[in-house]
Amino acid sequence: MMRKYNSVHILAKPIGPVCNLNCQYCFYTEKKALYPKQEDYVISDKILETFIRKYIEAQSASEVPFVWQGGEPTLLGVEFFQRVAALQKKYAGEKKIVNSLQTNGTLLNEKWCDFLKEHDFLVGLSLDGPEKIHDRYRFACSGEPSFKNVMRGLELLQKYQVSFNVLSCVTKEASYEPLQIYQFFKKNGVKFIQFIPIVERLPDEKAVAMGLRHAAPTSPGAVASVQVAPWTVEAEAYGDFLIAVFDTWVRNDVGRIHVINFEWALESWLGLDSTICVFAKQCGAALVMEHDGAVYSCDHFVYPAYELGNILTSEPDDLVQSQKQWQFSLAKKEGLPDYCKVCEAEFACHGECPKHRFLETPDGEEGLNYLCAGYKKYLRHIHPYMKVMRQLIENSLPPAKVMDVIRGPLIVKH
Ligand code: SF4
Ligand code: SF4
Repeated sequence: MMRKYNSVHILAKPIGPVCNLNCQYCFYTEKKALYPKQEDYVISDKILETFIRKYIEAQSASEVPFVWQGGEPTLLGVEFFQRVAALQKKYAGEKKIVNSLQTNGTLLNEKWCDFLKEHDFLVGLSLDGPEKIHDRYRFACSGEPSFKNVMRGLELLQKYQVSFNVLSCVTKEASYEPLQIYQFFKKNGVKFIQFIPIVERLPDEKAVAMGLRHAAPTSPGAVASVQVAPWTVEAEAYGDFLIAVFDTWVRNDVGRIHVINFEWALESWLGLDSTICVFAKQCGAALVMEHDGAVYSCDHFVYPAYELGNILTSEPDDLVQSQKQWQFSLAKKEGLPDYCKVCEAEFACHGECPKHRFLETPDGEEGLNYLCAGYKKYLRHIHPYMKVMRQLIENSLPPAKVMDVIRGPLIVKH
């Protein structure tokens, strides 16, 4: 069999969709509706150990990247992750284990941070910006706002020198405050930031029947009625948001603050394959394992139709190399509308994530990305700066020199 992927990535959800927060725009907590009511959503010892053993064995590289996500994985307590670390040690052999933990940060305490530092975890912390912006949609099940608890978590991560990046969701309202958000992160010592556009559709009949709060993604290439949820960012406003942050970053902070979105763009201008699936030609080889061992094609496609198998009965490599996963992956490329194929930004956009492709192109073709107008504007805007950074890199100079170029006497031409 021809190998389609060189490596296997499986993001693990050891407590499924269970979370202590009830963020209004979350696409994952609703997944409880897919399980029986009495489900406890906690991964069993048997599934955990099988997953860790098989996942390590499946890696051909010397480094094994584990990603733990939810729901909220810290609900399992430090003791659970101490067991994870012990199992990883048991099966690692000569391989190096690298762990990432995605969290809302509200349950972090000294004991957690001590553990995260000792085991060198990279933490992804969900924080949308200043209090008013963050608390617009991110609150506890009781309705209590979460900002203060997240900030306490952030301060502890800093105190214990745990490596972390901030994942910041760009909702409709947040998109109007780009500089307020960016300056807030800077002021609070955040060095790595990723902006995530919030695009969700209101549930259709099928989703309502399944008990879901959002419509499931269309099959790649299909058109859906554009009933976006009220918190969905407007397409052009998302482009304007990125442009405003980019304009201040490119003048002041290149090399000091890492806005991952701009680093992905630079990869495209350098002619490299994208390291993030949304800007790659095809969907990634990043599978997801739920608490019951079921493995799915992608975090955004955890629905019965996209289940590939179970970790207890299948090998990770067989799942990722399966025909079903390959079809899923190819659908992104094959479903790209002609409108995108002739777009000047296609090399950096590739039609973005199929989850967002539910519009028609101006000539009536299905599968245009909802965020298209924003991406076109943003990618056109950053083009001259990206060209300068590419030239600097080609001449073995740091891309941060773009800030000197902007100050003159050279001119960045649009
Ligand atoms: S559907 Fe979107 S998130 Fe999932 S693999 Fe494809 S590009 Fe990535
Ligand atoms: S910017 Fe729009 S037209 Fe261009 S590739 Fe992206 S989605 Fe397609």
